[in-house]
Amino acid sequence: MHDCLFCKIASGAIPSHKVYEDDKVFAFLDIAPVNVGHTLVIPKQHFDSCDETTDEAMAAAMAAVRKVARAAMAATGAEGYNVGINCGAVAGQVVMHTHVHMMPRFPDDGLLHWGKRAVSESEMQKTAADMAELLKN
Ligand code: AMP
Ligand code: ZN
Repeated sequence: MHDCLFCKIASGAIPSHKVYEDDKVFAFLDIAPVNVGHTLVIPKQHFDSCDETTDEAMAAAMAAVRKVARAAMAATGAEGYNVGINCGAVAGQVVMHTHVHMMPRFPDDGLLHWGKRAVSESEMQKTAADMAELLKN
C-alpha cells in the first residue's frame, strides 16, 4: 500500500472516527479539531495536494463537504462552518494527501480569521493582468 496516513485511514488500515463514505470520498473527524465536529474530507484516490487533484475528485470532495457540514451543524448545534484547504507545505499542508477541512463555527468561539495586508493598486493591476493572461485558453 502507498505509504500515506490518509490512504491508510481511507482503507481502514488505521482507525478513525468515520462520519461518511461513498465510492470516491472518505470523511472522518480531525484528531486535533479546532471545534467539535471538525471533519476532514478526502478523495479515496491519492493525490499529493489539491493542485494535483483531478476536477472530478475535487468536485466529489466538495459535494461531500456540504453534506458533512449539514450533519455536523445538526449534530453539534454549530451555526455555520469554514472550509479550508492547505495546498502545499508553504500553505501549512502537513499531510500530503489532499484533504478539505470542514470546521463548524459557533457564536463567540474565538477562532480568528487570517490576517490582511496592503497591496498597491499598481501591483493589483499587474497581478490581475498576468493572471488573466495565463487563464486565457
Ligand atoms: P494539514 O495541516 O492541512 O495537512 O492538516 C492535517 C490535519 O490532519 C491536521 O488538522 C491534523 O490534526 C489531522 N490529522 C493528523 N493525523 C490524523 C489522524 N490520524 N486522524 C485524524 N486527523 C489527523
Ligand atoms: Zn494518500
